[in-house]
Amino acid sequence: MKKVALVFLLAVFVPSVVLAILAIRSLRDQQFVVERQQSLLYQGVADSLAKDVQGFLMEQQREFAEKVNQLQAYHEIPHLVRIFDDTIRTNWVLADVGFVVTMGGKLLAPAPNSRPEASLFCSYNGSFLNNAQREEVYWNPRNSFEPVQIEVAASNDRYDNSSTQAKSWVVNKAPQKRNIVPQQQLALNMASKSQEDLDGNLSRVAPSEADFNELVQDSNEGIVARFLDNQLNLLMWYRHPAHTNHVFGAQLSLANLKLRLGGIVRNFDASLTEEIFVAILDDKVQPAAVCHKNATPKWRHPFVATEIGEVLPHWEVAVYLMNPAQLKQSARRLTWFLGILISILVLEIALGSIQIFSELKRQETLARQKTDFVSNVSHELKTPLTSIRMFSEMLAEGRVDDPAKQRSYLNIITAEASRLTRLINNVLDFSRLERGDKKYNFQALDLCEVVRETVEMYRPHLESNCFRLELKFPQAPVPAFADRDALAQVVVNLLSNAEKYSDAAKEIVVDVERRNGNAEVRVLDRGSGVPRGSEEKIFEQFYRAHDSLSSGIQGSGLGLTLARQIARAHGGDVTYSAREGGGSCFLLKVPSSDNGNRNETQL
Ligand code: ADP
Repeated sequence: MKKVALVFLLAVFVPSVVLAILAIRSLRDQQFVVERQQSLLYQGVADSLAKDVQGFLMEQQREFAEKVNQLQAYHEIPHLVRIFDDTIRTNWVLADVGFVVTMGGKLLAPAPNSRPEASLFCSYNGSFLNNAQREEVYWNPRNSFEPVQIEVAASNDRYDNSSTQAKSWVVNKAPQKRNIVPQQQLALNMASKSQEDLDGNLSRVAPSEADFNELVQDSNEGIVARFLDNQLNLLMWYRHPAHTNHVFGAQLSLANLKLRLGGIVRNFDASLTEEIFVAILDDKVQPAAVCHKNATPKWRHPFVATEIGEVLPHWEVAVYLMNPAQLKQSARRLTWFLGILISILVLEIALGSIQIFSELKRQETLARQKTDFVSNVSHELKTPLTSIRMFSEMLAEGRVDDPAKQRSYLNIITAEASRLTRLINNVLDFSRLERGDKKYNFQALDLCEVVRETVEMYRPHLESNCFRLELKFPQAPVPAFADRDALAQVVVNLLSNAEKYSDAAKEIVVDVERRNGNAEVRVLDRGSGVPRGSEEKIFEQFYRAHDSLSSGIQGSGLGLTLARQIARAHGGDVTYSAREGGGSCFLLKVPSSDNGNRNETQL
């Protein structure tokens, strides 16, 4: 039992409790987990839209190159230089100003005095395009449109994905702060608590200093982003492989660009439109494009966001929750659900454990009782057998001449033989009852008659042991529908117990009466009575309130178990109560039937 209990404790109970504790602890982070899952999903949306924007700009780059190629196919370079500003604006919606600059840094077009926009362009970009001045630029060579992952932390690794040629000229400047603070980014920073994270919501896009010639010399095309008077200025350029000395470019119209970007954000995963709102934010944290118009979230605090990259510095794809409270609610609901589930499981484990332990205890008690039973029965068999053998040998050898003694020895032999018979009957009946094989021969009878016969059979033995036996019978018969032998066995067991457990006061009363429709037999003695707390246990199989060793009284612990089972099979019972004035009172009760016929309802 101890081994089983230990195995159960170590293999089942302790691991279950530990798992439950871990599960309950993990519940505390449930909201974080749910938000994290959602943020991963929505981060995916933001990342993919940022990629779409970059892809769109790559496409524009290709379109621009094609247009320049077409124009170069139709026009001589000097002529094209003259008409380029006008022609590219007419042919390509994204162009605000068309420009041509030589690799030597000579700005050939637009003519500054051709129109006010051209003159403004020249004054803002002249010295940069002329290579006269290094300026702060965000440059992305055509083949390195990589999405900017907000999880990537180290600013020094920023250009690891870029081409080698980019690395050769880029000079990192101090990282700048992002204009927006995504809530999930903030939560992650708080959770990690590293100083770097707490300092940071830093942009992955860093400015570098360069002049135009440095940017264009190793590549055929690209986009250069700069901030002029705090306004984003985007220059797209292309160099024909056959005319590498001339760089054709266009200043992009931000208004038209925003219009085209609107188409991209409106095309995001339709299944999510109920849950999230998507916007492209410009460097001033203003919506450049939105998925639909009727939402005005706190632009600076999206749920998640992704920077678009060097090509649109400080522009972000931002995702807002349509119903921020819903996420908390569903996290809370999940927490409650899991909490209740865990509690129920823990309760089940606890109840199961209690049940297993009480069952183990019961089995252990039963095993001990069975061992006691075997030794008790062996002893009970041995004692009468020894007496029978001893007295019969004495008689057989003719060693006893006195007829009175001979009679007394014969009486002892008879009494011991019937004790043996009783014991064997009890054991056999018990095993029959255990197997469910016990058959009853119900018949109409008079209980007084059955009791009288049984007691009279037992009387000589009792009287020879100095017992005073008193019988109380009513005038009228006490009819019952019962098994005669089974009832006699119950009475014998009760009488035998009264004899065994009587001390100095050797007085037994047997009282038969009919009361409240029951046939009742009481067997009373003046013995020590049943110890307190054992009044019900004495009816359990093998249970003995008087231990053989300490009391010296032999027994199998089966007599009362059988008596009760037989009585219950008759629809009655056997019960114990302390006798007034000391001793025991055992009551056998079976239903009585008026005409002695079977009372079906009571059986
Ligand atoms: P046993 O063979 O031990 O007598 P029983 O089933 O007949 O088995 O009785 C169970 C226990 O009930 C006994 O061991 C004894 O402790 C107690 N008992 C039974 N009858 C009496 C009685 N008349 N007086 C006191 N105790 C009794």
